[in-house]
Amino acid sequence: MTATATRTGLTLSGVTLRYGAGDTLVTALDDVDLTVEPGEVVAVAGPSGSGKSSLLAVAGALITPTEGTVAIGGTDVTAAGPARRTELRRTGIGYVFQASNLLPSLTARDQLLLVAHLAGRVTREHRDRAAELLDAVGMTAKADRRPHELSGGERQRVGIARALMNRPALLLADEPTAALDQQRGRDVVALLAEQAHARGTATVLVTHDEGLLDRADRVVRIRDGRMG
Ligand code: ADP
Ligand code: MG
Repeated sequence: MTATATRTGLTLSGVTLRYGAGDTLVTALDDVDLTVEPGEVVAVAGPSGSGKSSLLAVAGALITPTEGTVAIGGTDVTAAGPARRTELRRTGIGYVFQASNLLPSLTARDQLLLVAHLAGRVTREHRDRAAELLDAVGMTAKADRRPHELSGGERQRVGIARALMNRPALLLADEPTAALDQQRGRDVVALLAEQAHARGTATVLVTHDEGLLDRADRVVRIRDGRMG
């Protein structure tokens, strides 16, 4: 393997995604090409229904495209079998959602440790990593709080730390600021960018909020499944 291959983030080539058939056929993505380098933050902007979530589902190996290829960290996901895809989703990709999807009964710290627990045993290294990430997102002082004791912005910060726990090559965030006011939304996007740059994580941020785009390294626009 060459150095170039190991430094690959995300590559989508000629990706088309159709849902349904016949009268109900929807072309959600139409011949999309996109490359995101390690450490690069690409914002995907577009109106509701333009294909943003479909793009993330394909990039995150959750849906196999009708046509085209998706490569993550140099691995062709579209050619991989189901077991390899599952493994890649678990170890190679971090997801941040619209709502933070934290478990109500767990403290902020345990949200992160759960990731390690599900993968096997929780080690000292995992605890150190969780502490380092909570510090990076400014949540050390509130590490023992449960989600209902945190604000929406704080929950998203914990969600970002959790998504980074496995050192993913790729971070996918689908409207992570949707539940936040403008300032908190800007803070969360700034944090995503800072972490992506510091850790070399290829990051795709989906938003329909034009006010958040200036924090991205690059903005791509999508309309009716077409990128322009
Ligand atoms: P966005 O996230 O930009 O709002 P989506 O990717 O969710 O857009 O949707 C793109 C298009 O695909 C829309 O026309 C939507 O109705 C359609 N779509 C999304 N998911 C499905 C699905 N599971 N089955 C059928 N059509 C879908
Ligand atoms: Mg969407």
